[in-house]
Amino acid sequence: MTSSDDPGSAALTSLTDLRPGLPSPVQEVTDGRFARRGVRLLLKRDDLIHPELVGNKWRKLAPNLAAAAGRTVLTFGGAYSNHLRATAAAGRLLGLRTVGVVRGQELAGRPLNPSLARCVSDGMRLHFVDRSAYRRKTEPETLAAVLRAAGAEDAYVVPEGGSNSPAVRGCRALGAELTGRADVVAVACGTGGTLAGLAAGLGAGGRALGVPVLKGGFLADEIRALQSAAFGGPRGDWSLDDRFHFGGYARVTEELDAFAEDFEHRHGVPVERLYVAKLLYALVALAEEGAFPRGSTVAAVVTGRPFP
Ligand SMILES: *Cc1c(COP(=O)(O)O)cnc(C)c1O
Repeated sequence: MTSSDDPGSAALTSLTDLRPGLPSPVQEVTDGRFARRGVRLLLKRDDLIHPELVGNKWRKLAPNLAAAAGRTVLTFGGAYSNHLRATAAAGRLLGLRTVGVVRGQELAGRPLNPSLARCVSDGMRLHFVDRSAYRRKTEPETLAAVLRAAGAEDAYVVPEGGSNSPAVRGCRALGAELTGRADVVAVACGTGGTLAGLAAGLGAGGRALGVPVLKGGFLADEIRALQSAAFGGPRGDWSLDDRFHFGGYARVTEELDAFAEDFEHRHGVPVERLYVAKLLYALVALAEEGAFPRGSTVAAVVTGRPFP
């Protein structure tokens, strides 16, 4: 057996060996819907950081993979989670064992969808749990039971969506790379961890705008909690615009899909539908509402790439 067959015994490849494309490129695009209003549009191409550890997943996972120091990495996600796929890819690339705890016991007996199949082909062991246990996964007793059932008591645990304090601090670099380059830096939000770090990194050098892709209106409190855990208090100037979730997580209407396809044709940039499409749609709508003053520059963070 070669060492690559056994991730546990392989020498840990260091993250720098993966040669991330950092800082990620900033690309100016000419788009009439902004130009007409005298607004410049920049795309922060975090989707180009790494072919498999894409976008904000690189920024959030890298500090956690370093902290795991070769231990099994266990994390959580839904059946189409970009975070699970990125963690599985990291495991393969770095020679780390990974365990994915997947929401939905009923999925266990079915053929895997392409996203989970990719996780498995990257060496991730999947452990399915029912929805009520999944909801309680941050309670210590439930977590301990899940780790035991998954046979991973010694694992380094990364929360759902990957947004713990090391991840939030990791996203400061995204803000720092854009400081002074844009008046508004906008990002799509799931857990809000990326926005929490981005706003801190921008400092007084710009305003951060988050576009939540989940329905609920609870995200501002969670971002405050993430910043207080990571930095000891609030950081940066940030706000949320809750109007562009299109019905909730993973809901993609025909209108949104057509918008994304049109954006791809105009600018030759692949548009991930669950997050990035909603962000870009929001920015076009805001530009058309006159929300950005003439002469201002808006940067949209392209946090990911379509899968497959
Ligand atoms: C995970 C993800 C996000 C959300 O990041 P949070 O830090 O959870 O807010 C945004 N865009 C893409 C493409 C993602 O995969």
